[in-house]
Amino acid sequence: MRTGFPDFRLGSVLATSFTGTLSERYGDAVERIPTPHRLVDWLAVNGLAVDSCTTAQLELARELRESIHAAATAAAIQDALPASAVQVINDRSAQGRAAAILTPEGKRRWQLSSASCVEDALGVIAADAISIIAGERDGKLALCASPSCQAAFFDTSQSRTRKWCDMNTCGNRQKKARFNANQRRRSAE
Ligand SMILES: [Zn+2]
Repeated sequence: MRTGFPDFRLGSVLATSFTGTLSERYGDAVERIPTPHRLVDWLAVNGLAVDSCTTAQLELARELRESIHAAATAAAIQDALPASAVQVINDRSAQGRAAAILTPEGKRRWQLSSASCVEDALGVIAADAISIIAGERDGKLALCASPSCQAAFFDTSQSRTRKWCDMNTCGNRQKKARFNANQRRRSAE
């Protein structure tokens, strides 16, 4: 991993892990794939290893990311899906030529058509987004309760009452803020 760049936030859902590469969208936004190399790194950690990535491919990736964010957000609040976002997701899905491969160990692995095919990897991410937005998987899209985040995440908790996109970041920050407010109140008494 390259140093000097913001860490990745890794979740168990590919599409929302991908939208999480831009965090704090309503605060001080943190871009976690600022360079083509960082997208290569992110894809590698997510089982979609590519050799290289051009600036144009990074642009495609970011366009897909913001489209998934927009569509997932609309789905979470049961709003109409933005047509332009749907178009981008469908284009990326249709253009990808990755094949699902079953390994001897019984795991799924993605085989890309060539090692330079970032488009194939984006196709896998787009298809993952489609499956959660279309409600085909067990879980519910929701928005993070942190005002500066509001990221769409996929809640697979049994009660479907998860409040934060990530317990270790947004959840913790919220807890700390509440703790500090209580401390202040106590010292003012
Ligand atoms: Zn959050």
